[in-house]
Formats: sequence, structure tokens, C-alpha cells
Amino acid sequence: MILVLGGTAEARELATLLDAGGTRFMSSLAGRVARPRLPVGAVHMGGFGGVSGLRSFLLENRVSAVVDATHPFAKGMTANAVAACTADGIPLLRLERPGWSAAAGADSWEWVDDHDAAAAAAARLGRHPFLTVGRQSLDHFVGPLADRPTLVRAVDEPTIDLPETWTLLLSRGPYLIDNERALFVEHDIDVVVTKDSGGAYTWSKLQVAAERGAAVVIVRRGPAPAGVEVVSDPQAAAEWAASR
Ligand code: NAP
Repeated sequence: MILVLGGTAEARELATLLDAGGTRFMSSLAGRVARPRLPVGAVHMGGFGGVSGLRSFLLENRVSAVVDATHPFAKGMTANAVAACTADGIPLLRLERPGWSAAAGADSWEWVDDHDAAAAAAARLGRHPFLTVGRQSLDHFVGPLADRPTLVRAVDEPTIDLPETWTLLLSRGPYLIDNERALFVEHDIDVVVTKDSGGAYTWSKLQVAAERGAAVVIVRRGPAPAGVEVVSDPQAAAEWAASR
């Protein structure tokens, strides 16, 4: 059986391909989002309990190979997958969508290494920031941006209290370009903060930022896991999995 570590559109696409091809597989989700988009097929919901828990899960479920299709910023799960698969000699493939570093206009963005640097850059570059960094990272922005009318967009309610000057918008992509344009006008957005998630689902805000001359602050991806084969195409991952 193949284990697909999921939580992304690519992981759902892979599940659909494996299902269609008759490959035995199971997907897993962290269980953080209140109403997750579910892939086809069986789903394990919730964490495994670190590396040792994952190793037990792989053994008990006779997993022959793992495809780590988690989000590019889900570094903890990716590291655990490398450790568990290396320990037990289980083949591991990383399915990761390309980032935006080669996209049009990317060289004019402010690239930073972490959320603290992103918060400092946003405070320097704009009066009306738009934060699309995920609710788990918002604590880094509260101090530097407490006095700014900041728009926050997240899938689920943040677990921290947001400053009174901030506006919370709960929604989930994909985002249509016209809606993004309207949002930028409504909130007079002059700086967007995001992560180098890549993909098409959340790209439109960057196009609108370019149209309006708004600054973009973007958190770089960390390095890919060493020694693990990486593909960006779910079809390639499905072929790899089918041969395991
Ligand atoms: P993380 O920090 O890398 O992982 C923290 C812990 O959550 C892991 O150690 C594991 O718990 C559990 N976990 C994470 N992904 C899992 C999966 N696919 N299946 C089962 N358990 C999982 O992860 P994160 O950044 O919080 O992301 C959580 C999930 O949301 C991921 O599946 C990711 O693909 C998705 N996601 C993340 C982002 C993002 O920006 N980080 C954006 C969109 C979607 P145990 O140690 O108990 O096994």
C-alpha cells in the first residue's frame, strides 16, 4: 500500500490518479482544518505521533512506499517522513509544486527567510498590509503591524487575538482575479505578505499587486529534503507509486 501525505491540491490529484489506476493507497491529513477538502479513497485523519508513530503506522499498514505531497511549508511532516522512511528503508518520493521564484515580477518582490523578517519588511513597505501567511504564523506580525489597518485572510479562525485595527476574512482559494481586485480596492492594500507556496490557486493576489504597484513580501522555501527524489507533477508521482 502507498501512503500519500496530503493537505494539498496535488495530493488530491494524486489520489484521483492512483484510484483510477487501481493502485492501493491511503491519504493522510493533519486534521487542522475544520472542513478539509477530502481526496478520493481512504483517509487517515490526524498526526501519527512523531517519527516513531509514523514508523509504527508504516509497519502496521504494510506501506511499501510513501509520497510526501504535503505543502512546501509543512516542514515538520516532511522531516518526519524522511526520518521514518530512511530508518526502515521505505522508498520516499517528494511531490512538490514549483515555487514562484521564476514568475513574472518575482525579482522585484522582497524575499525574506522567515515570518519575523516578513513582518519587519511589511511594516517598512506599506500602510495597509494584506497577510496571507496562514493563521499559524500570525503571531509574528501582531507586534510590528498592530497599529496598521491590516487585512488577514485565513481558512480557519486564528487561535490568537488579533489587534482591533485588523480585519479578518475567512475564506479558501482558489481566488478569482476580479474578486482579488475588488478586495485590494476595498482595503486600499499597498503591501501583500505571502509564502512561496507556488501553484495557481493563490496566484491572483500577486497579479493584482503587480497591476496596482503594491509591494510584495514573500517568505522563501527552506531547502528540499536531502537525498529524496522530487517531482512536481502528480502524474509522475502516480507512475512512481504504481511501480512500488
Ligand atoms: P507541519 O508543521 O509540517 O506538521 C506538524 C505535525 O502535523 C506533523 O508532525 C504531524 O503530526 C502532523 N501532520 C502534518 N501533515 C500531516 C499529514 N499530511 N498527515 C498526517 N499528519 C500530518 O505541518 P503544517 O505546516 O501545520 O501543515 C499541516 C497540514 O496542512 C499539512 O498536511 C500540509 O500539507 C497542509 N498545509 C499546510 C500549509 C502551510 O502553509 N504550512 C498550507 C496549506 C496546507 P505527528 O508528528 O503527530 O505525525
